[in-house]
Amino acid sequence: MTVENPQPKLEPDRVGQEIYQLISELYPICRSITGDGLRVTLRHLQRDIPLELHEVPSGTQVFDWIVPKEWNIRDAYVKSASGKKVIDFQHSNLHVVNYSSPIQTRMPLEALKEHLHTIPEHPDWIPYKTSYYKENWGFCLPQRTLQDLEEGEYEVVVDASLEPGSLTYGELYLKGQSEDEILISCHSCHPSLCNDNLSGVGLATYLAKTLMDRLPLRYSYRFLFIPGTIGSITWLALNQDHVDRIKHGLVVACVGDPGMLTYKKSRRGTAEIDQAVTHILRHSGQEYEIQDFTPYGYDERQYCSPGFNLAVGCLSRTPHGCFQEYHTSADNLDFVQPAYLADSLSKYLAVLDVLENNKKYINTIPMCEPQLGKRGLYGAMGGRKDTSDLEMAMLWVLNLSDGETSLLDIAEKSGYEFNIINETASILLGNQLLVEIKD
Ligand code: ZN
Repeated sequence: MTVENPQPKLEPDRVGQEIYQLISELYPICRSITGDGLRVTLRHLQRDIPLELHEVPSGTQVFDWIVPKEWNIRDAYVKSASGKKVIDFQHSNLHVVNYSSPIQTRMPLEALKEHLHTIPEHPDWIPYKTSYYKENWGFCLPQRTLQDLEEGEYEVVVDASLEPGSLTYGELYLKGQSEDEILISCHSCHPSLCNDNLSGVGLATYLAKTLMDRLPLRYSYRFLFIPGTIGSITWLALNQDHVDRIKHGLVVACVGDPGMLTYKKSRRGTAEIDQAVTHILRHSGQEYEIQDFTPYGYDERQYCSPGFNLAVGCLSRTPHGCFQEYHTSADNLDFVQPAYLADSLSKYLAVLDVLENNKKYINTIPMCEPQLGKRGLYGAMGGRKDTSDLEMAMLWVLNLSDGETSLLDIAEKSGYEFNIINETASILLGNQLLVEIKD
């Protein structure tokens, strides 16, 4: 069954292309959990959305963690005795272990090898490695390049700084009719990797942009563009008093690959966000997967830590670690595609549409069925293909609107799509057969 969407229709081709274009612009930047790459990325997003940048000084205690020193890199290479750069940061920022300490030295191949990382089963790909919380240095390269390195002495240069500075994150707050919030969070710290997680950064940006055109909404929205793990820990530590306003949330990650949509439930498992995403995926006509919460993954780990236990799930396509391109140079601009980005965005919007409209009503004529015919409600939607669905949905909404059962509960019980139940409720409300229960 289909229902006319009251929202302005998105043009999936155009919006997918625009998100892809944004990803292409951000792709070359060397990001990390702190530093100028992250700042430049967030400032770039300010062209599309009024993101506010926050700086949290290195050394700040955030729960059991400490905001690390700030890392910035200018150049890095390994040069052979003949003067040829055999590994060059300028060709790919993945070549340097992210957060490598500065170094300038010479060493024989055998000693150098202890600092080199490859993926033997994918000999042309460069792995993505990090060393955030242990001072170390290293290079990542294709296995084929490693095999071709000749014995001899190599010059090793990492022209980077690791000094007191700050951690940067971006925040956008869209005020709604209620102070209750929906949190949208994405990690923005990975260098030249597209699905993980420029796809999430791009989707969250366009989600914010789309919602800004629809204001005022029922809920307030808070978008966080943060470095993974330390960013969500830092935000939670600095905003503890505020956290109980967050009623629902989604972590946006890996949303541009060809895989099916996958939803990882919140730790609560039966929260409204879990119910809403499951409903949208079940009625999407596409393959999908629902997974229970696990304490591993992205920033939902922090939002769902037992002290917070927020209703935050993670809606991805192929989840982290489950695609072979994950954390390698093959997670590139060929791996993510506009059509998948657009499809993911449409699912996010559909989920938010459910949350925005998932209200509770009371039937004003609960003693036997109200006579719909005399109110012109039978056949009122004549000419529409889904007339009989609407009439049947009307009976469901009237019967179950007891002030406690939400429209989403009614959709689930009746088997109808949320859209049709919501449209039915609007018609009944317009005919004074329902009254809304305010939260
Ligand atoms: Zn990652």
